[in-house]
Amino acid sequence: MAQSSIEWTEMTWNPTTGCTKISAGCKFCYAEIMSKRLQAMGIEKYKDNFEVRVHESALNIPYTWRGSKVVFVNSMSDLFHKDVPLEFIQKVFKVMNDNPQHVFQVLTKRADRLQQLHKKLKWTHNIWMGVSVENEKVRKRIDLLRETNAKVKFLSLEPLIGPLPNLNLGKIDWVIVGGESGHKPRPMNPDWVIDIQDQCKSKEVAFFFKQWGGKNKKANGRLLNGKIYDEMPEIQLQHSV
Ligand code: SF4
Repeated sequence: MAQSSIEWTEMTWNPTTGCTKISAGCKFCYAEIMSKRLQAMGIEKYKDNFEVRVHESALNIPYTWRGSKVVFVNSMSDLFHKDVPLEFIQKVFKVMNDNPQHVFQVLTKRADRLQQLHKKLKWTHNIWMGVSVENEKVRKRIDLLRETNAKVKFLSLEPLIGPLPNLNLGKIDWVIVGGESGHKPRPMNPDWVIDIQDQCKSKEVAFFFKQWGGKNKKANGRLLNGKIYDEMPEIQLQHSV
């Protein structure tokens, strides 16, 4: 586990590592860049760089945390990648089910596999399930997420590289929006952000604006119309799962 600088979580937990690119949003994959760095540093978990690997030993970690944490699961991979066996995904879910004092945020671009497997998984209230949607082409992921039994559902519209008008936000609890950062970031039009914010407002969906991104993401910050928007779904822990 590691403290996270990601604005919408507290820490990360990576029971799997590695992935393969699947859509335009993967172009400058942060996990791929980090895996290479960690491999070069000799970190055992990343010895195979960005190949998909499962880590049984990581399954014990959430049992050791004190207090309640908000945890991003698999910042370094995609839990629903085809190379992660169902049995291992079920083990990860068992850990999350056993630890209702923590919120686990799981984010995937493999919404099709998520939808195929969701009935074989136990969905407690502390598991927030999200899909990444970077542009119109992958909008279908939202419909697939909606079909699952996840109790809390969210969208990560990051890196937002195209407009997403008229989203169906039915059964969606939370929307995160962010722009791309790095050396050659694809631009995010402020009108796209404001449109999504308006859609969330009209459907009463929590809206979180993560960052503008760009070459200097720190300088560009995360103010939207002069304000920080960091709404989140209501956290229901232990007593309610
Ligand atoms: S799905 Fe996520 S982890 Fe996998 S390559 Fe794409 S951005 Fe990277």
